[in-house]
Amino acid sequence: MADHPLTLIDEGLRIVAITDSGPYIESTVIPRLASIIPFIPFLDLIPPANLSVAVIGGKVSRPKSTGSLNLISPFDVTVSPRVEFNYYSQRENLLQCRNIVDVLRNILETQAMEEYKFPSLIGPRRFTYIGPSVPKDSSDEESVVTFCRKTLTSFWHNHGGCLVNKVVDRHLKVIGVDSLRVVDASTFFNSQGTNPQTTILMLGRYIGNKILNERAGVDNRS
Ligand SMILES: Cc1cc2nc3c(=O)[nH]c(=O)nc-3n(C[C@H](O)[C@H](O)[C@H](O)COP(=O)(O)OP(=O)(O)OC[C@H]3O[C@@H](n4cnc5c(N)ncnc54)[C@H](O)[C@@H]3O)c2cc1C
Repeated sequence: MADHPLTLIDEGLRIVAITDSGPYIESTVIPRLASIIPFIPFLDLIPPANLSVAVIGGKVSRPKSTGSLNLISPFDVTVSPRVEFNYYSQRENLLQCRNIVDVLRNILETQAMEEYKFPSLIGPRRFTYIGPSVPKDSSDEESVVTFCRKTLTSFWHNHGGCLVNKVVDRHLKVIGVDSLRVVDASTFFNSQGTNPQTTILMLGRYIGNKILNERAGVDNRS
């Protein structure tokens, strides 16, 4: 069982980027003059004309840490199973997050981000973070780990609860049960990192077509 951990600095979605170095970057921007000031008390101090909020998330696309899914009741399907993702339980995963921190810092240093800085009384314009700020030095492992844990959230890309050869066979039929298939992301060993919904819909169509072909006596191997 796994999910993509997401590290967010400070919602909608505008940009998706897949970096060479690993993390996937997703971002959105709340434009200037947005009327969210009343909901963020400490921003009351800043004139509305200067308000703009950028949300940038770095996503671990292939998390090394995996968790578990256990049925609480083997009989009653209305009882939710216990799911644990164990985000960042492996040191290697924290190294993946350090990579995110590096990418986020590089993004923040670009010219394009200048317009999201606020004037400061004590120096040059700077960012005002809603939440923890990006660690200045990635070699400071403790601050990177703290940042990664504090900003950790889910991207709701759960997968791997009914793996092939464990719960289902390669035709996605539940092993040991007649006439039952599981056709969803729970059969994925890995999830692609970007939004999975269309892939899951295609998988449903693919298996549906195979079932129809089987019933019509068509050879599915072709
Ligand atoms: C808030 C949120 C936002 C998201 N945004 C996006 C997005 O913008 N784009 C995108 O691509 N993806 C998005 N996702 C992810 C996407 O919705 C999921 O990855 C996708 O729906 C997973 O599909 P699935 O078929 O694997 O599981 P599900 O959609 O969860 O379907 C599983 C089904 O199985 C049923 N079920 C469970 N247990 C049993 C049982 N014991 N017996 C019978 N039925 C059972 C459930 O009722 C459910 O209908 C989002 C997810 C969330 C939560």
